[in-house]
Amino acid sequence: MATRIGSDEQMQAPAATMLDPSRLPYPFCPGCGHGHILDALDRALVRLGRPAHEVAIVTDIGCVGLSDQYFVTHAFHGLHGRAVTYATGIKLARPELTVVVLIGDGGCGIGGHHLISAARRNVGVTVLVFDNFNFGMTGGQHSVLTPSGSITATTPAGNLEAPMDVAATAAVNGASFVARTTAFDPGLDALIYEALSTDGFALLDIWELCTAYFVPNNRFSRKAMEAMLASSGMASGVLVHRQRPELARTLASASQGAPASRVAPAAGGRAGGIEPRFQSRLERRRSLTLAGAAGEKVRSAATVLARAAVLSGLYATQRDDYPVTVMTGHSISELVVSPEPIGYTGVPAPDILVVTAPEGAGVTASLPSRMGPGTRIYVEHSLAGRIGATRASVEPFYADRLGKRAAALAVLAAVAEREGLVSAEALRASVDMESRETVAQEMRQALEERQTVWEPAAPSRKVT
Ligand code: SF4
Repeated sequence: MATRIGSDEQMQAPAATMLDPSRLPYPFCPGCGHGHILDALDRALVRLGRPAHEVAIVTDIGCVGLSDQYFVTHAFHGLHGRAVTYATGIKLARPELTVVVLIGDGGCGIGGHHLISAARRNVGVTVLVFDNFNFGMTGGQHSVLTPSGSITATTPAGNLEAPMDVAATAAVNGASFVARTTAFDPGLDALIYEALSTDGFALLDIWELCTAYFVPNNRFSRKAMEAMLASSGMASGVLVHRQRPELARTLASASQGAPASRVAPAAGGRAGGIEPRFQSRLERRRSLTLAGAAGEKVRSAATVLARAAVLSGLYATQRDDYPVTVMTGHSISELVVSPEPIGYTGVPAPDILVVTAPEGAGVTASLPSRMGPGTRIYVEHSLAGRIGATRASVEPFYADRLGKRAAALAVLAAVAEREGLVSAEALRASVDMESRETVAQEMRQALEERQTVWEPAAPSRKVT
């Protein structure tokens, strides 16, 4: 789930808006329909009246994928076309959440099977299709929803294919609620609210304008779109609204009376199947951001700490961030560990920031200024000059003598011990749970060397 910067009040109570005003305005091209739909979604969510931490927004790739960061809800952003699968997983794990998918017409093609399966299974999620008839972010290529004859970057002589009717497809496959309208519809809020209130799979196909590509390529306009909707042969308004058993509840009732699983399901950030074996002195929630580079095993190191926390009877969450490239660029892990269940997993500004590489320092450059008194920054000594003004205390560490694959875990373990997050025994036990023995060996070595990070390496002798 992505980082959110909402206040505790916004996370806990019904709010006047689910948008984060400090992040607005939206980044879309002038006239783009996305903003209309997001505003309508906000109003529908407010009317729904659920606190932000009971709502999860899952975004697909494309311009629509930029949307979740403007809401103070939970968020998940993943691979192109797979948003419905992530939403399905979230809904099955946490059936009490309101789960909303924001997807473009491009994602509907890439993830068409997922849409059909979710409708067929009647998973209780709401899918809003931001349907502007082309891939906007990548330059206006045609999608499965592009109308016949349309000019796009990939159909310069006019689209020869017939568009898929995504609404009819969802309806015929068993969705509980399906509707089609445009982003200009004054009743859009109400339709979204109805979809959100549906106990089952809901899909809204919302036609809108991509002013960067589809509009200029096709001399398109709001009027033309409304005329096209009327003459397309595709139904508009509410196509389907019916009662069908919702999947998460069907599974829950089917599992009643079934033999108990040997592994408890994950809940509230406590990893299923891990029995606490150690004591923790931690009295309150602490957050930690580990900022390093690809190849430093940053995420593995964070997982070792998170697992050690669970072994110590704590709750833990981990969120990773890295670029699409492999073995290059930044690698960031955000951890939350707490003696209480973790409702909000976001880390607007961590209690502890650990910087191991220039790549991580660059991506987290804005954090030090947001960190308050009593927080701490541990920084690789050669990067200390990259930490800007901060009220956090700054402490250097020395990882020169450690290999690149060992530094992140050694430093994280040393910091975790110093900060009283978990014990060395819990860290060792966590490493023992690593399934790949060669990796576990490397990790054990890193743990053994953790205390060396507080001592400057001796200058190398000159050979004469
Ligand atoms: S490229 Fe198209 S879809 Fe993307 S922001 Fe611009 S107008 Fe909107």
